[in-house]
Amino acid sequence: MENIRDALNKILNKSDFTIYMGKLDKDITAYKLPTSKKEEIVNKAIEEATWCYNELINKYGELSPIKYAIRMQIPVVYVREKPTKYYAYLGLFTEKNQTITLNIETIDFVKKLINEYNLSDLVDIDRLKDTVFAHELFHYFELIYPDLYSNQKILDAKIFGLFKTKSQLLVVGEIAAMHFAKLLTKLKHSPLVYDKVFSLGKKQLL
Ligand SMILES: [Zn+2]
Repeated sequence: MENIRDALNKILNKSDFTIYMGKLDKDITAYKLPTSKKEEIVNKAIEEATWCYNELINKYGELSPIKYAIRMQIPVVYVREKPTKYYAYLGLFTEKNQTITLNIETIDFVKKLINEYNLSDLVDIDRLKDTVFAHELFHYFELIYPDLYSNQKILDAKIFGLFKTKSQLLVVGEIAAMHFAKLLTKLKHSPLVYDKVFSLGKKQLL
């Protein structure tokens, strides 16, 4: 199992900034942006996550992520949907009914992988659920604060090469959500580590 530890250590040795730049590099709509623009986007996403974190702390103090949802009266649903190789999610935020959904089945699967591969010295197994929750909580912030950077249309796009238009870059919200979750849970490593554990272990799935 040395290769799994190596793969995780690779992420653990990277700064958050580098990890988020990597996310942009992998994004189909963002990868071709100039490096300076990508750096600006990452800095603004980090700023936005920090702003939302401070808003929450100033309003409610330090609580567990689930308690914020209770205070903010956000409905929370727990489901058990078996992850597959092709479709899996840990959590969701649904804008229509403003609900946070946590998928206990996938969360348990990732925990099982951490134990099976003896990764608990590298990966914080106890904060996984809170991290997923905090991530989805951030998407609620995006809904109630439309002026946030991640809601802005920052990408130049051309439709059929005729009309110049601007489009939103969804990955910005994902980077900000990831950073917000890290701040809120005081996680020592990037939440990306959990994603990596899942992607390394998903060959076990159907
Ligand atoms: Zn998300």
